Amino acid sequence: MRLILKNARIIDPASGFDDVADLWIEDGLIAGIGRAPFPGNLVDLEGKILAPGLIDMHVHLREPGGGHKETLATGAAAASTGGFTAVAHMPNTSPVVDTPYLVRWVKMRSRGLPARVYPIAAVTEGQKGKKLTDFLALKSAGVVALSDDGHPIAHEGVMRRALEKAREVGVLMILHEEDPDLSSGGVVDCRIAGSLGLSGIPPDAEERMVARDIALAEETGVPIHIAHVSTAGSVRLIREAKARGVPLTCETAPHYFVLTYEALIQYGTDAKMNPPLRSEEDRLEVLRGLADGTIDAIASDHAPHTPSEKARPLSEAPFGVVGLETALGVSWTELVEGGVLPPEEVLAKLSLRPARILGVPGGRIVPGAPADLTIVDPEVRWTVNPKSFHSKARNTPFAGRSLKGKAWMTILGGKILKAGNLTSEAEVPESVCTSTRTK
Ligand SMILES: [Zn+2]
Ligand SMILES: [Zn+2]
Repeated sequence: MRLILKNARIIDPASGFDDVADLWIEDGLIAGIGRAPFPGNLVDLEGKILAPGLIDMHVHLREPGGGHKETLATGAAAASTGGFTAVAHMPNTSPVVDTPYLVRWVKMRSRGLPARVYPIAAVTEGQKGKKLTDFLALKSAGVVALSDDGHPIAHEGVMRRALEKAREVGVLMILHEEDPDLSSGGVVDCRIAGSLGLSGIPPDAEERMVARDIALAEETGVPIHIAHVSTAGSVRLIREAKARGVPLTCETAPHYFVLTYEALIQYGTDAKMNPPLRSEEDRLEVLRGLADGTIDAIASDHAPHTPSEKARPLSEAPFGVVGLETALGVSWTELVEGGVLPPEEVLAKLSLRPARILGVPGGRIVPGAPADLTIVDPEVRWTVNPKSFHSKARNTPFAGRSLKGKAWMTILGGKILKAGNLTSEAEVPESVCTSTRTK
């Protein structure tokens, strides 16, 4: 069956294509772009933007072991609702995904979900920061990267061995940068900790490890990807390193370029994450990093927890906030509407760059590629209501926030998923489809 998407503003950040045209899909693949010369099932996308399927390169879908917080299925539903056709799933689960068996388990359990789930496995066994996992076996099992995310790799010798092994095997290392000697026991950024009666996490805890790992990447020539950049100092270190030609990429999350630690006062534990929210100066430098290309990608670091876990006091509640269903709207509002970046650049940071960094398909609109597409309504105004999330979790510091721009629909492998559908079997919705098939 041929599906024709008509009259969309098609933005392909890879080729720079940005024009109103039709796109047609056959057998799950993008078949052509232009003026559709034949009949088929039509979806009229006038006023909408058609982009490559968004890819969130950093999420925690909690399985195996954490299904009370989120499952691969509810996480994929949240992803699809938020406009993501693919996510990369972090391994700090229970048990930790550190064996080929568990990588295959994640892949098997993710089949048929409304978003592709790419597994990431641990760098060290049990994420304990000591013994390296079997990189080659994990790569053969299908990981897109390795990361001990949730924990730093504190021991420099272990990190160096990991990078050497990563080069041998050809697998990407994603780094959660935190010096535990400086952050240990900390709850929130040190500059607000005192007034809340809590112990603090200094910006230095992140920046020292960023500096250490830039030095290691520079020395070894092995590429690294730095997760969730949150401080002005980290942005500057990465900017300088890139200028010197160090092989590194990085991401930030929407909360770091929209919020500061002041949000803790209103949102309490729903604004507690690691790294913590920082100062206005840090926020502005993260925005500059996004604008000048220092920061390659935007990832949600979607980290669901149950309401009862987040109901505990700030000092005890777990770190993390959900983001899959707000990342696009928050980024669109702050960056496009805010005049920081043009639409194609925001879309690149949410699709093309993650695809390139992880080495996965997608991120481009080109005939022959799988038809993973995101349709954005750039004009719709909406208010974040956590009760309507498809995620199991509600822990967001964006509750009640007014946003402009939202995912209207995703298409996965040529199949239309009305935002939020739980299966990938959805038919073309009647309301948007007019069959013009002849005879
Ligand atoms: Zn992390
Ligand atoms: Zn994370």
